[in-house]
Amino acid sequence: MELAVAGVDLADSMEVMQDTWKKNLSPEEIAATEMVVDFDAEQTTCPACMTIFKPETPMCPGCGLRFG
Ligand SMILES: [Zn+2]
Repeated sequence: MELAVAGVDLADSMEVMQDTWKKNLSPEEIAATEMVVDFDAEQTTCPACMTIFKPETPMCPGCGLRFG
């Protein structure tokens, strides 16, 4: 697929494309993309592998994803 857009329309096009992209995701995946890691919470959920761990550790024990 080829997409040609004029410069002024670029921002709008990006927005539309992002909406289209989100439509292809499951509700769970959308939630994951919008998830914010709360370091003040007693426990947090890794947005990559959904492992629940204590945020005092700056690294996910499940997948090794680093935070901060
Ligand atoms: Zn993880």
